Amino acid sequence: MLLRYTSLVVLSVSVCLQAETLGVYLDKPLSGPAQASFRNELHNLLKDTGVSIELRSLKERKAGESFDRLMVVQLRGACDAMESPLAVKAGPLASTQVDGGRILPYAEIFCDRLRQTLGTAFDREPPYRRNMLAGRAMARLLAHEIYHFLAQEKSHSAGGVAKNCVGSRELLSEDFAFDHPTLARLRTVPEPAAAVAETEEAAGR
Ligand SMILES: [Zn+2]
Repeated sequence: MLLRYTSLVVLSVSVCLQAETLGVYLDKPLSGPAQASFRNELHNLLKDTGVSIELRSLKERKAGESFDRLMVVQLRGACDAMESPLAVKAGPLASTQVDGGRILPYAEIFCDRLRQTLGTAFDREPPYRRNMLAGRAMARLLAHEIYHFLAQEKSHSAGGVAKNCVGSRELLSEDFAFDHPTLARLRTVPEPAAAVAETEEAAGR
Protein backbone atom coordinates (compact mmCIF):
# COMPACT_ATOMS: atom_id res chain seq x y z
CA MET A 1 0.00 0.00 0.00
CA LEU A 2 1.34 3.30 -1.00
CA LEU A 3 1.33 5.77 1.74
CA ARG A 4 1.15 9.34 0.85
CA TYR A 5 2.59 11.89 3.10
CA THR A 6 1.50 15.40 3.10
CA SER A 7 3.62 17.98 4.71
CA LEU A 8 1.85 20.95 6.03
CA VAL A 9 3.84 24.06 6.53
CA VAL A 10 2.23 26.79 8.50
CA LEU A 11 3.73 30.19 8.30
CA SER A 12 2.50 32.64 10.82
CA VAL A 13 3.39 36.00 12.11
CA SER A 14 2.34 37.76 15.25
CA VAL A 15 2.04 41.37 16.03
CA CYS A 16 4.70 42.41 18.48
CA LEU A 17 5.29 45.58 20.38
CA GLN A 18 8.22 47.70 19.30
CA ALA A 19 10.33 47.28 22.41
CA GLU A 20 11.95 50.52 23.42
CA THR A 21 14.77 50.58 25.94
CA LEU A 22 14.91 53.14 28.70
CA GLY A 23 18.28 53.24 30.43
CA VAL A 24 17.78 54.30 34.07
CA TYR A 25 20.95 55.47 35.78
CA LEU A 26 20.90 55.55 39.58
CA ASP A 27 23.40 57.85 41.28
CA LYS A 28 23.76 55.51 44.28
CA PRO A 29 23.63 51.74 44.66
CA LEU A 30 20.83 50.06 46.59
CA SER A 31 21.27 46.99 48.77
CA GLY A 32 20.87 43.65 47.00
CA PRO A 33 17.28 42.84 48.11
CA ALA A 34 16.10 46.43 47.60
CA GLN A 35 17.71 46.59 44.16
CA ALA A 36 16.12 43.28 43.14
CA SER A 37 12.61 44.35 44.13
CA PHE A 38 13.18 47.80 42.63
CA ARG A 39 14.17 46.25 39.30
CA ASN A 40 11.36 43.67 39.34
CA GLU A 41 8.68 46.21 40.13
CA LEU A 42 9.84 48.62 37.41
CA HIS A 43 9.78 45.76 34.95
CA ASN A 44 6.31 44.65 36.06
CA LEU A 45 4.85 48.15 35.94
CA LEU A 46 6.13 48.86 32.44
CA LYS A 47 6.06 45.46 30.79
CA ASP A 48 2.72 46.10 29.05
CA THR A 49 3.86 49.42 27.58
CA GLY A 50 6.57 48.13 25.25
CA VAL A 51 9.23 49.92 27.30
CA SER A 52 12.07 47.79 28.60
CA ILE A 53 13.96 49.20 31.59
CA GLU A 54 17.72 48.76 31.79
CA LEU A 55 18.89 49.65 35.29
CA ARG A 56 22.45 50.95 35.60
CA SER A 57 24.77 52.67 38.05
CA LEU A 58 25.71 56.21 37.06
CA LYS A 59 29.21 55.71 38.47
CA GLU A 60 29.75 52.55 36.47
CA ARG A 61 28.50 53.91 33.19
CA LYS A 62 30.35 52.28 30.33
CA ALA A 63 31.44 53.99 27.13
CA GLY A 64 29.31 52.97 24.22
CA GLU A 65 26.26 52.05 26.28
CA SER A 66 23.28 53.17 24.36
CA PHE A 67 19.52 53.09 24.86
CA ASP A 68 16.57 54.58 23.05
CA ARG A 69 16.09 56.94 25.98
CA LEU A 70 17.96 57.74 29.15
CA MET A 71 16.85 58.87 32.58
CA VAL A 72 19.08 59.88 35.49
CA VAL A 73 17.72 59.31 38.99
CA GLN A 74 19.11 60.86 42.15
CA LEU A 75 18.34 59.06 45.38
CA ARG A 76 18.09 61.69 48.13
CA GLY A 77 18.40 60.89 51.81
CA ALA A 78 19.01 57.49 53.41
CA CYS A 79 17.63 55.31 50.62
CA ASP A 80 19.43 52.17 51.62
CA ALA A 81 19.16 52.22 55.38
CA MET A 82 15.50 53.17 55.39
CA GLU A 83 15.76 54.01 59.05
CA SER A 84 13.24 56.26 60.70
CA PRO A 85 14.21 59.83 59.86
CA LEU A 86 14.45 62.24 62.77
CA ALA A 87 12.93 65.28 61.11
CA VAL A 88 11.73 65.56 57.56
CA LYS A 89 10.76 68.75 55.77
CA ALA A 90 7.46 68.63 53.97
CA GLY A 91 7.75 68.14 50.24
CA PRO A 92 7.36 65.68 47.40
CA LEU A 93 8.14 61.98 47.50
CA ALA A 94 9.65 62.24 44.03
CA SER A 95 10.02 64.88 41.35
CA THR A 96 11.07 65.40 37.77
CA GLN A 97 12.67 68.47 36.26
CA VAL A 98 10.72 70.49 33.74
CA ASP A 99 11.79 73.29 31.46
CA GLY A 100 8.94 75.20 29.94
CA GLY A 101 6.76 72.61 28.31
CA ARG A 102 9.38 69.89 28.32
CA ILE A 103 9.76 67.23 30.95
CA LEU A 104 13.41 66.35 31.38
CA PRO A 105 14.94 62.95 32.07
CA TYR A 106 16.13 63.94 35.55
CA ALA A 107 14.22 62.55 38.50
CA GLU A 108 14.73 62.52 42.25
CA ILE A 109 13.35 60.19 44.91
CA PHE A 110 13.24 61.57 48.45
CA CYS A 111 13.82 58.54 50.63
CA ASP A 112 13.44 60.23 54.02
CA ARG A 113 9.96 61.41 53.08
CA LEU A 114 9.18 58.01 51.68
CA ARG A 115 10.30 56.36 54.89
CA GLN A 116 8.16 58.74 56.91
CA THR A 117 5.18 58.07 54.65
CA LEU A 118 5.51 54.29 54.97
CA GLY A 119 5.22 54.81 58.73
CA THR A 120 4.37 52.22 61.33
CA ALA A 121 3.00 49.69 58.83
CA PHE A 122 6.55 49.47 57.48
CA ASP A 123 8.11 49.33 60.95
CA ARG A 124 6.05 46.30 61.86
CA GLU A 125 7.51 44.31 58.97
CA PRO A 126 10.49 42.02 59.65
CA PRO A 127 13.84 43.48 58.55
CA TYR A 128 14.26 41.13 55.58
CA ARG A 129 10.91 42.31 54.18
CA ARG A 130 11.64 45.98 54.68
CA ASN A 131 14.35 46.03 52.00
CA MET A 132 12.01 44.40 49.52
CA LEU A 133 9.12 46.71 50.38
CA ALA A 134 11.32 49.82 50.25
CA GLY A 135 12.72 48.87 46.84
CA ARG A 136 9.23 48.22 45.50
CA ALA A 137 7.87 51.51 46.85
CA MET A 138 10.78 53.42 45.29
CA ALA A 139 10.09 51.73 41.95
CA ARG A 140 6.46 52.87 42.11
CA LEU A 141 7.56 56.46 42.70
CA LEU A 142 10.04 56.28 39.85
CA ALA A 143 7.47 54.68 37.53
CA HIS A 144 5.27 57.73 38.21
CA GLU A 145 8.11 60.03 37.10
CA ILE A 146 8.84 57.81 34.10
CA TYR A 147 5.21 58.26 33.08
CA HIS A 148 5.63 62.06 33.13
CA PHE A 149 8.83 61.83 31.13
CA LEU A 150 7.78 59.29 28.51
CA ALA A 151 4.32 60.75 27.96
CA GLN A 152 5.64 64.34 28.26
CA GLU A 153 2.58 64.87 30.38
CA LYS A 154 2.32 67.07 33.49
CA SER A 155 -1.18 66.04 34.44
CA HIS A 156 -2.12 62.96 36.44
CA SER A 157 -4.43 60.01 36.05
CA ALA A 158 -7.53 59.42 38.13
CA GLY A 159 -6.10 56.27 39.67
CA GLY A 160 -3.10 53.98 39.80
CA VAL A 161 0.61 54.80 39.82
CA ALA A 162 0.18 57.99 37.79
CA LYS A 163 -2.28 59.65 40.19
CA ASN A 164 -1.15 62.80 41.91
CA CYS A 165 -0.70 61.56 45.45
CA VAL A 166 -0.01 58.23 47.06
CA GLY A 167 0.16 56.98 50.61
CA SER A 168 1.52 54.02 52.55
CA ARG A 169 -1.44 51.85 51.57
CA GLU A 170 -0.63 52.08 47.85
CA LEU A 171 3.12 52.02 48.31
CA LEU A 172 3.03 48.89 50.46
CA SER A 173 0.18 47.16 48.61
CA GLU A 174 0.79 43.83 46.89
CA ASP A 175 -1.04 45.16 43.87
CA PHE A 176 -0.57 48.74 42.71
CA ALA A 177 -0.13 49.45 39.01
CA PHE A 178 -0.87 51.97 36.26
CA ASP A 179 -4.53 52.23 35.34
CA HIS A 180 -5.61 51.19 31.84
CA PRO A 181 -5.83 54.70 30.31
CA THR A 182 -2.27 55.43 31.46
CA LEU A 183 -0.98 52.14 30.05
CA ALA A 184 -2.65 52.95 26.75
CA ARG A 185 -1.04 56.38 26.78
CA LEU A 186 2.40 54.91 27.48
CA ARG A 187 2.09 52.54 24.55
CA THR A 188 2.09 55.50 22.19
CA VAL A 189 4.63 57.81 23.72
CA PRO A 190 5.74 60.87 21.75
CA GLU A 191 9.30 61.63 20.73
CA PRO A 192 11.28 63.13 23.60
CA ALA A 193 12.39 66.74 23.74
CA ALA A 194 14.93 68.74 25.79
CA ALA A 195 14.74 71.67 28.31
CA VAL A 196 14.91 73.25 32.89
CA ALA A 197 12.62 74.32 35.84
CA GLU A 198 11.38 71.99 38.45
CA THR A 199 8.02 70.45 39.03
CA GLU A 200 7.23 68.54 42.12
CA GLU A 201 4.74 65.92 43.02
CA ALA A 202 2.37 66.26 45.88
CA ALA A 203 3.59 64.25 48.81
CA GLY A 204 1.14 61.61 49.88
CA ARG A 205 0.20 60.42 53.26
ZN1 LIG B 1 3.26 63.46 39.12
